[in-house]
Amino acid sequence: MHPPADRTISPDFESRRPLVRSLARGFVCGCPNCGRGALFRAFLKPVAACPVCGEDFTHQRADDAPPYITIVIVGHVLVPLMLTAQIATDWPSIVHLAIWLPLTAAFAMALLQPVKGAVVALQWALRMHGFDGGAFPDPAEVALDHPPTGAAARRSAARGAPLNEP
Ligand SMILES: [Zn+2]
Repeated sequence: MHPPADRTISPDFESRRPLVRSLARGFVCGCPNCGRGALFRAFLKPVAACPVCGEDFTHQRADDAPPYITIVIVGHVLVPLMLTAQIATDWPSIVHLAIWLPLTAAFAMALLQPVKGAVVALQWALRMHGFDGGAFPDPAEVALDHPPTGAAARRSAARGAPLNEP
């Protein structure tokens, strides 16, 4: 597929991937494109392509974002509950440990897959990485194919950046 002559994005191109709908579909572990196909083939392994609509998910780069986001959510929900329970009760520490450790682990495990689904859906909706369907060239590949010349090369040299010698 060839990139367009300019980088103008038509309203239709944008509107086919509404962000909130995509995130909601991803959070329930469904395909952000059609909402009917499963997004995961295993606990945290996304499918290569949607079994219903065929949307390609090999471009996802969720990496460490889902665990970070899960930790933030779990911490913001459970820490206030733990502190409230600590203040409001006179339970011994072993009781707190018996309650909060399994609850924290269970909450984190329950959230991890939906959060990863939402992250993949976010990348898809924003056409990150290769999710643009080849409409735009990957900037990293463009940099390799066309090393900077002229003023761009001088700026790179001034920053000490490599010039992508062929
Ligand atoms: Zn689909």
